[in-house]
Amino acid sequence: MKHLFIDFLNSEHWDGLREESYEDRLGRPDWLERLLTEWRITPEVPAGEAELAELRRLRAWLRELVRRLREPHPIREEDVPRLNAYLGGETGVWQFAMADGDYRIERLPARRSWEWVQSEIVLSFLRLLTEGEPKRAKICENCCCNWIYYDSSKNQSRKWCDHGICGNLMNVRRHRERKKRSEEE
Ligand SMILES: [Zn+2]
Repeated sequence: MKHLFIDFLNSEHWDGLREESYEDRLGRPDWLERLLTEWRITPEVPAGEAELAELRRLRAWLRELVRRLREPHPIREEDVPRLNAYLGGETGVWQFAMADGDYRIERLPARRSWEWVQSEIVLSFLRLLTEGEPKRAKICENCCCNWIYYDSSKNQSRKWCDHGICGNLMNVRRHRERKKRSEEE
């Protein structure tokens, strides 16, 4: 299952092996353009430094919210007005659309602004929170990966993203730790 906010959060990228492999892909115009095109939310003007700073602020906060989704009460009182602030600024019309055999409800904004882009990102998070299964949004437990993914497994038991590398890597690490412990004993 695809979610805009998850794709957006994964603009923070690690290679799965080294923490210092961190790359902020928001700073790559080609990456950002692909994201916006895929989700049909390309604004009128390209992002400047101020817009990128806004996006990074939203990203850090949303990642924190995703991290909290495992807790019993992930959304706190003070989050409510903050979430609403993202939704409040833009008006537009909603419409039903069909494309490539897909049905969609989409919002045509009064102006294709960066506020609108941010509100679409927040909306996609709120859709999962209110209508979906938010606990399925997870952060890969490989500390050098941190990839955010949607766990569609039957029992929601996945701990690592499906980049292949992570599941294998963690098994190797656990094996090494077990071996080390048994050698120390
Ligand atoms: Zn991973």
